[in-house]
Amino acid sequence: MNVYDGLRIAAMLEHHGFERTESISDADIILLNTCAVRAKATDKVYSALGRIRRAKKPNAIYGIVGCVARESGAGAFRKIKDLNFVLGPQSYHKLPEILNDPNTKLLDINLSGLEKFDELPPITKSPLVAYIPIQEGCNHCCTYCIVPYTRGPEISRPYSEIIAETMHSANVGAIEICFLGQNVNGYKYTDKNGNTYRLSDIIRETAKINSVQRIRFTSSYPTEMTDDLIDMFRTEPKLLPFLNMPIQSGSEKILQKMNRPYDLSGYLEIINKFKSARPDIQISSDFIVGFPGETESDFEQTMDIAKNVKFINSYSFKYSPRPHTAAALMQNQIPENIKSERLIKLDSILNENQREFNLSCIDKTFNCLYEGPDKTGTNHIYRTPYMQPCIVTTDNPTNLANIKITSANKSCLHGEIVD
Ligand code: SF4
Repeated sequence: MNVYDGLRIAAMLEHHGFERTESISDADIILLNTCAVRAKATDKVYSALGRIRRAKKPNAIYGIVGCVARESGAGAFRKIKDLNFVLGPQSYHKLPEILNDPNTKLLDINLSGLEKFDELPPITKSPLVAYIPIQEGCNHCCTYCIVPYTRGPEISRPYSEIIAETMHSANVGAIEICFLGQNVNGYKYTDKNGNTYRLSDIIRETAKINSVQRIRFTSSYPTEMTDDLIDMFRTEPKLLPFLNMPIQSGSEKILQKMNRPYDLSGYLEIINKFKSARPDIQISSDFIVGFPGETESDFEQTMDIAKNVKFINSYSFKYSPRPHTAAALMQNQIPENIKSERLIKLDSILNENQREFNLSCIDKTFNCLYEGPDKTGTNHIYRTPYMQPCIVTTDNPTNLANIKITSANKSCLHGEIVD
């Protein structure tokens, strides 16, 4: 979501005559697009603002947008007196107001709907992967999560607007479309004629666009995996055989404390439905270790499910108390050293799953999307349908290529382009 917001902000500033620069000391306007999901990310914002303040031109304007802006509000101006703007994730389209009068302080952290999508100028060139938000906010209220506070309650964008933006992105260069939402599979929109649209309708319509070759979506909520969506994996080959479905914990006791009301058998049943719809599908997940009250036995249950399901490309984090959340006030907070130990143990399983899966890809051929040159500049990186980076030596990288995998390790694949 932040990548998308960043691109739209850049396009908006370009529309107002700005050009990008890599150097802070050259810039006339500097902004940090921020994430508040973990405490560490928030802490980094203020140290980065201090660095910017020292490096920028005296008259350059600077500020923050996104979830830390929403969380900090006017407090950001108290922390850094000469900050020019603080704009929440639903208000960054108001940034041009500060350009008219750089001497004012611009503060807007309202969560008053999705009007930003009407205000932003269209992009003129898309990266090969276009991120299209279809809904924002979340009604699930997991007890550890700040998103309902920073992004607000769930709102789905109008279906016709999403399809128009998707077609435009395809027309200006996108080959892969990734639909986004904090609760993307909760998407539901009823138009003025009473027609109701779900994520499956968006996928079906997008697949009709010839130049779009790959479709995916993130982030999903397990209990909102409806049969129409699962069926898309059976019928729509452009939908990639790869899905992120956060489980967070393998302990039902901890899931209850997280206010994630599903049990493990229900979660596994959904995976089985996906596997019968698309036998080559792979599942990625998100994990939190060290949630308040997590015992060794709870943690072992998380280890078991990570081993048994063989999740790939997963994300694992130490629980981090966030303001405005119920879990931050819970008793039995887990000491940092235990959280770190558990994270290391869980990561060793997730890494082993990844290594095994990568090795199983050797000698297989995948249609892959070009990402760019690697750090050496002599090789090129592609993404497989499972989002693994695949390194290829070629003088002629094309946007899409069939690549035969020749070797693999935990982190990446190597391959060669075949016809
Ligand atoms: S479903 Fe996701 S975004 Fe919504 S509250 Fe839970 S963790 Fe946060």
